Amino acid sequence: MTYEFTDRLKALPPYLFKELDRIRDEVRARGVDIIDLGVGDPDRPTPPHIIEALNKAAKDPKNHQYPVYTGMNAFRETVADWYKRRHGVDLVAEAEVCSLIGSKEGLAQFPLAFINPGDVSLVPEPSYPVYRSGTLFAGGTSHFMPLLAKNAFLPDLSAIDEAILAKAKIIYVNYPNNPTGASATREFYAELVAFAKKWNLIVVSDAAYSEVTWLDQPHPSILETPGAKDVAIEFHSLSKTYNMTGWRLGWAAGNSVLIKGLGLVKSNVDSGVFQAVQLAGMAALEGPQDCVAAMGQLYKERRQVLIEGLNKAGIEVLKTDYTFYVWASVPKGLKSADFASKLMNEVGVVTTPGNGFGPSGEGYIRLALVQEVPRLKEAADRLAKLKF
Ligand SMILES: *Cc1c(COP(=O)(O)O)cnc(C)c1O
Repeated sequence: MTYEFTDRLKALPPYLFKELDRIRDEVRARGVDIIDLGVGDPDRPTPPHIIEALNKAAKDPKNHQYPVYTGMNAFRETVADWYKRRHGVDLVAEAEVCSLIGSKEGLAQFPLAFINPGDVSLVPEPSYPVYRSGTLFAGGTSHFMPLLAKNAFLPDLSAIDEAILAKAKIIYVNYPNNPTGASATREFYAELVAFAKKWNLIVVSDAAYSEVTWLDQPHPSILETPGAKDVAIEFHSLSKTYNMTGWRLGWAAGNSVLIKGLGLVKSNVDSGVFQAVQLAGMAALEGPQDCVAAMGQLYKERRQVLIEGLNKAGIEVLKTDYTFYVWASVPKGLKSADFASKLMNEVGVVTTPGNGFGPSGEGYIRLALVQEVPRLKEAADRLAKLKF
């Protein structure tokens, strides 16, 4: 038999890192001690009190059946309380919150509810790839908004063509930003909400990193902006905040029609999140938050250790107070992929070339702070021996 992938699968962007994966395997085969700063996945385990809550909930037969697909009422109430506590935002849990099997799942399905074939999504680049692939799977096309250093890695809304805006349905934003670590201001969110109202757009805000910070306050939520609930839906996740990437638990919150559309898609595709996982997530959101603050301090320390080595090598990095990523400039005359393979070959440090997140990422690499301080110190010492 011959089977062919659909046009939508064929339209996915090519995987850019085949050659880099090959080099990494080759370097590893040479016996080099590789320090992997490539993946965006916290290395530390989930805090014990959350695991305890799962243990307890897993033993209760009530949790062994199909959950309510939009999430347990108690979970949604917990999310609403969290928004009130962290952001001063009022949400009606049963209409304005939906549980997700990780925020990636929700982000990927959302366009099926609001993008018709031929519609346009406004997608930042460099970015997390799901905004683009979700749009593609719904039959839409992405119009890319470059995130540039000269604009503090915020999209330039005034640069978007009016003919494109007329066809656009969704605008995506992600702050704190992966891959750059850049943040957004409340002023930017106010401008974005007004822009969305003018052009009849849905704002999708991906806030996966809002708690990954060493500041006392979380990064602002777009839902804090007056009128945001008229146009916005925010996707959030326990993955990065509580080192729970493997658990698959997130939520969407905001405009009730947007939540309803997403819920309709989901009710036809999945059957919700294991209730024991939702109960563990409630323990995470309601329990002591010192584990979150401690991770923030740890990322700050790791960042300083690594940056010292990068700076000694003559490599500049973007200043930020958020995320566990370092966005570093590639030395003049080199491409992102060349630089990443050089670091792998010469010092055994694995990084991600910025152009893998979109063309405007060319000229940068991303380093994830997902190794312990002594390993990052080792990486920094090796990097410091290079000169650019
Ligand atoms: C990690 C990540 C997510 C998704 O995480 P889930 O584990 O699916 O909740 C979403 N957006 C960005 C930008 C991420 O880096």
